[in-house]
Amino acid sequence: MNRNNGKTRNRRSWAEPYKIKMVEPIKMTTRPQREKAIADAGFNTFLLSSKDVYIDLLTDSGTNAMSDNQWAGMLLGDEAYAGSRNFDRLQKTITEYYGYEHTIPTHQGRGAEHILSMLTIRKGDSIPGNMYFTTTRMHQELAGGQFVDVIIDEAHDPTSLHPFKGNIDLDKLQSVIDDVGVAHIPYLCMHATVNMAGGQPISMANIRAASKLCHNQDIPVFLDATRAVENAYFIKIREEGFENTSIEDILKAMCSHTDGCTVSGKKDCLVNIGGFLALNDAELADRARNECVIYEGLHTYGGMAGRDMEAMARGIEESVEFNYLHARIGQVVYLGEQLLEAGVPIVEPIGGHGIFVDARRFLPHLTQDQFPAQALAAALYVDSGVRGMERGVVSAGRDPNTGQNRKSRLELVRLTLPRRVYTQAHMDVTAESVIDLFEKRDHIRGLTFSYEPDHLRFFRARFHPIGGDSILADAPVTSVSSTMSDTASV
Ligand SMILES: *Cc1c(COP(=O)(O)O)cnc(C)c1O
Repeated sequence: MNRNNGKTRNRRSWAEPYKIKMVEPIKMTTRPQREKAIADAGFNTFLLSSKDVYIDLLTDSGTNAMSDNQWAGMLLGDEAYAGSRNFDRLQKTITEYYGYEHTIPTHQGRGAEHILSMLTIRKGDSIPGNMYFTTTRMHQELAGGQFVDVIIDEAHDPTSLHPFKGNIDLDKLQSVIDDVGVAHIPYLCMHATVNMAGGQPISMANIRAASKLCHNQDIPVFLDATRAVENAYFIKIREEGFENTSIEDILKAMCSHTDGCTVSGKKDCLVNIGGFLALNDAELADRARNECVIYEGLHTYGGMAGRDMEAMARGIEESVEFNYLHARIGQVVYLGEQLLEAGVPIVEPIGGHGIFVDARRFLPHLTQDQFPAQALAAALYVDSGVRGMERGVVSAGRDPNTGQNRKSRLELVRLTLPRRVYTQAHMDVTAESVIDLFEKRDHIRGLTFSYEPDHLRFFRARFHPIGGDSILADAPVTSVSSTMSDTASV
């Protein structure tokens, strides 16, 4: 994993197993332009216009660079309304690599989550899972269910070096089952890797044990396999006994312990749009196709064009190549190690799809009600035009029962790396900006809401800095913030 950079041991660096064939110019902006852009965006990086962004690390979702092979496949789109050959190809590929028999294509991951939630959850049900994901939990709640977190405690501790922080705590899982009863647990929602914990993997041993615990009590297990390929890479390099197993075999073994999966193709599948629900149970799959027809599109395209399905099938094949994954996750490690060397607090171990900066430790002068991660993301944009995003109390939203902010223990700024898009020099620019900000961190102001949407508020919320108009003050702001209390309920 270590790039060595010629410094120690052997002098051989490794590099990406591809070269650049086409380039997309990006705009360089000035600091005054960025000050204005972030104010116009209500200090929410989601509301920035991408033309004002230099290095876009908002998300790895749909931002992948496709290969020449995928683009060639785009020209082979069979745009028939029904029975597109690209669907057949996609379904075969999913069966080959993930192992499930039936594929229901969807416009993206949340389409699959919607269908699965509607079909399996009844009012009052509880759905245990290894940490929530925003859209997953939203659909579970809209279907009348309630998400219950059963991830191991280490996942909530950004300093814990546990190699599989995505693991499920089997005792917590069993006690949820005991509390609400098997009849009220529609399924176990298993994430691999766990996005909200910082792209942390779940081990094969844990997948096996948690699935066995559920299956022994007739509870199905559905995998959120959005980043399961990256999870397979971590199993290969971290879990004893898998050193010599291929990514393909690990992925298939992971899936084999579960009854189906929901996938956002916009991540591991190396495409820009699409998703799927894959299932083994023929009857459930048939009911899912009926819902697909209502909400997504006919069950042989589900909101995707034929060409998109072709690109996804080819992307899945490319995604399991070890050298690709080694470079992909190696780039994440390269960025993370620079930050660690400078003392910047980040979630460790370094995860699969990005670096998660610990905003609580970065900005100790701000309380969580002042949205430190949101503030840090805005400040980073102003400093260098790098766009990250908040994963903390804003993303966690309000508890539907109490109306209070869910105080997430993790308060993070996510610097997510699009796959095959940026170079090592872009990582250097990013690291330098974060490190500069760390050195003047007490100049970063907290934020207060000026507009708060009802659902998935992080996407469209607007904010204002506390004690001034600029997110970066001219002098340390410690004294201003320490007098503020709960400003989050504005
Ligand atoms: C992105 C994502 C989803 C939702 O997928 P969309 O394609 O954005 O609808 C679900 N689960 C996880 C873990 C994700 O990262």
